[in-house]
Amino acid sequence: MFENLSEKLERSLKLLKGEGKITELNIAETLKDVRRALLDADVNYKTAKTFVDNVKDKAMGQNVLNAVKPGQMMIKIVHDELTELMGGATTDINIKNNPSIILIAGLQGSGKTTFTGKLANLLKTKRGKNPLLIAGDVYRPAAINQLQVLGQQVGVTVYTEEGSKDPVSIAKNGIKMAKDKGHDLIIIDTAGRLAIDEQMMDEIAAVKKAVNPNEILFVVDSMTGQDAVNTAKEFNDRLDFDGVVLTKLDGDTRGGAALSIRSVVNKPIKFVGTGEKLDALDVFHPSRMADRILG
Ligand code: GDP
Repeated sequence: MFENLSEKLERSLKLLKGEGKITELNIAETLKDVRRALLDADVNYKTAKTFVDNVKDKAMGQNVLNAVKPGQMMIKIVHDELTELMGGATTDINIKNNPSIILIAGLQGSGKTTFTGKLANLLKTKRGKNPLLIAGDVYRPAAINQLQVLGQQVGVTVYTEEGSKDPVSIAKNGIKMAKDKGHDLIIIDTAGRLAIDEQMMDEIAAVKKAVNPNEILFVVDSMTGQDAVNTAKEFNDRLDFDGVVLTKLDGDTRGGAALSIRSVVNKPIKFVGTGEKLDALDVFHPSRMADRILG
């Protein structure tokens, strides 16, 4: 992932790496390259500008020009700024309640249903939870079946209502069943469309209002770059979600969404999907991601 960005950043920072002494001009040129690398990676324009301005301020503030190893120092500053850009620290999901309710939202094809299965698997195996999944994607008939198959693989119960087109009532009935059966976690998959439309937003907003979730996770395909950021903004304006799940990071060579989403939407990335298999899900660590980007 992010091969192109890594390569370009490495190339622009390499020039400084071996230098014993650097000049203001060296820094200016490097920062120009860094900015170009970010824009090529499909990072939002304003984000790239702020990033470079911050790196410059820090470099001057820490007196890089007089440092013994100025190149190393610049790399550390860029690393720290990348980490900050992606949210700084890891942010956990809120699953303290019993039961806790997690609502999954996003466009069709973003990887919502797959993520619902992966999350159930992670929380069951790593955090000892007993999840119930609710199949609320009533418009894509295959989604219900897909969730049932995932549920079987993970070994968790999936609540479905054959033929119902009312996600609010499905969600409420599912929650009632979860409480009756003593599940401590409920994950609700919802319907997406190919593009944002009012009816879909109204519907998810209605489910949110009816079930009052502890956590709303917005799922988005990282390969869609700037579109991912715009979609996140629209969902957030409507739903005020708690965190972002970036899927298909395994296929994302650029990294624009991962780098821009936090600063544009001001919500943390909490998980990343790195493949189609059930265990291809990672908790998002900004600092480790910065390590990977800088190679
Ligand atoms: P939904 O319409 O939002 O529920 O999307 P799905 O869960 O059906 O996923 C759409 C497609 O993306 C499926 O073919 C998934 O296998 C695939 N997919 C989901 N997450 C990932 C991921 O992290 N990496 C890759 N490579 N494929 C993924």
